[in-house]
Amino acid sequence: MSRFTFNRKKAKLKKLLGIRARLALLALIVVAPLMLDRARSLEDARAKQLAHATQEFAELAQHSADTQREVISSVETMLKSAAYIRSSAGGVGRSCDILRASLPVNLPWIRALMIVGGDGHVQCATRNTLVGLDLSGRTYLKQAREARDVVFSDFLFSMATDLPIVMAAFPVSAIKEDSDAVIVAGVNIDWMSKIMGNLGGRPGISAVLIDSTGTVLAAPADQASMVGRALDTVPLLSAIAEKAIDTEQDQGSVSFVAADGSKRVVNFARIPGTQSRLIVSIDETKVSAAINRDIRTAYLQLGFVCLFILLGALIAAEKLIINPIEMMAAMAKRFGQGDWSARAASSRLPAEFVPLARAFNAMAARLAERERELIATNDRLTVMASIDMLSGLANRRGFQSRLDFEWMKAQQYDSELSLLMIDVDHFKLFNDTYGHPEGDACLSRLGETLAGIAADTMGFAGRYGGEEFCLLLPNTDSVRALEIGEMVRRAVWDQAMPHTTSVYQNVTVSVGVASTRPNDAQRPGDLIEAADAALYAAKHRGRNAVVEHGFVRVTDGGNAIAIAS
Ligand code: GH3
Ligand code: MG
Ligand code: MG
Repeated sequence: MSRFTFNRKKAKLKKLLGIRARLALLALIVVAPLMLDRARSLEDARAKQLAHATQEFAELAQHSADTQREVISSVETMLKSAAYIRSSAGGVGRSCDILRASLPVNLPWIRALMIVGGDGHVQCATRNTLVGLDLSGRTYLKQAREARDVVFSDFLFSMATDLPIVMAAFPVSAIKEDSDAVIVAGVNIDWMSKIMGNLGGRPGISAVLIDSTGTVLAAPADQASMVGRALDTVPLLSAIAEKAIDTEQDQGSVSFVAADGSKRVVNFARIPGTQSRLIVSIDETKVSAAINRDIRTAYLQLGFVCLFILLGALIAAEKLIINPIEMMAAMAKRFGQGDWSARAASSRLPAEFVPLARAFNAMAARLAERERELIATNDRLTVMASIDMLSGLANRRGFQSRLDFEWMKAQQYDSELSLLMIDVDHFKLFNDTYGHPEGDACLSRLGETLAGIAADTMGFAGRYGGEEFCLLLPNTDSVRALEIGEMVRRAVWDQAMPHTTSVYQNVTVSVGVASTRPNDAQRPGDLIEAADAALYAAKHRGRNAVVEHGFVRVTDGGNAIAIAS
């Protein structure tokens, strides 16, 4: 990978991991473990709930089986009591009377009690309609005689009523050897369904009682249609039919996925002393539907909580970090552009940013003050750079820039511009006579005089260099300029500053005058040159004179007639 591509990728990554992304990531890192823990605890709760449901129904199955065993043992007791009556009461008639009288009314599950003779015919029955009925072909009679014990038949339909019943048989021979009678009871299996009632009405739960052949003997009321059907024809239970019937275990459980895709757990328990088994099938999907709903809701809630936390983190980051930083950055940018009036409003900032904002504001105030000082110093320096300290007039630099300005203005308005060049006569001699400091004082007084005249004539006076001065006169024609030149010469003369080594005995000046109407063909330098030439002419004429460039004029001074070349 080239260094360039690497750097670009690095920059992209940096952008992605901006402060917002980092805060969102932080919020996720905080929330994720809580989310995972909550999700895990919900999954645990589901597993526990399923295990609990399985356990509960296994116990229920066992409890139902136990209850049914009590019923069956009461049937056995009834049969054995009847056998005892038959063996000890003598004749069939007497036994029959006692039997009828002794059938307890609180045993509703015994539909009928019969004494069957050796030929298989019913000799006596608690219901008259059964007397004479031929049961000789019934297997349970044979089995009871052979086993000499109580035997329950498999599921069958009553000959008399066509209702589903189970027959119980007990041979009297088990008590009295020579008797060939068998006590038979028709056991109503409705009671079984009623007992199983508490297993019904629950979503995802199927419960059936089967006999040894796998025929359904009883089912809760809501599943009553299963009674009489073979287990392998019952939907959802057919898959476990073989296992439930063939198993040697008294109780157990099987897990499997039914044809409809539901995951089922089947508990079965054998009713002791019989071949019947109680089967309870639990559809895990339906049983866990409620907790699944809870888990879904919890996940949704978690999702929303995460979303809110993320949004909260982003909004907080925006308000508490990003906005203040952007505000500071905007301020710094304005500072960079020289706008020192920018200030951060502390009231709109989080407390952590207030010291920074204050420092920023203080810095801005300090820098603004510095800038003001700098500008003032610069202004002072600019002024100082264009002023002559000795005379108090503009120096050559100041004069030059004013000349350029007035030149431009005069050209723009097509007005006249005049210039006087003024030079002290025999100033070297003055210095020589009075000394340099006195020479300075003289120059200073001349400066004052010129400043006064400049003020009176709307002119601009400057020290051109050494003992040479200049007076720029905007909007002034040559006539007026010449008058002003004379005004200068006279003003100096009137000062009456002694100059003993001069022929005039006083300090005098020579003045060169030049006037023009500035145009593109001329330059400001031309005006200076012309005034200089006139000054040279004035010197040449004997000093203390005023000469206008290009003209011969008589001035008020005695010999002040001059010609500039
Ligand atoms: P002229 O009449 O021809 O102008 O003669 P001048 O002596 O005035 O002219 P020159 O150019 O020979 O001498 C000028 C003198 O001015 C020389 C110098 O010492 C003096 N000078 C120039 N600047 C200053 C200054 O700032 N202070 C003092 N005291 N003297 C100055
Ligand atoms: Mg001079
Ligand atoms: Mg000079």
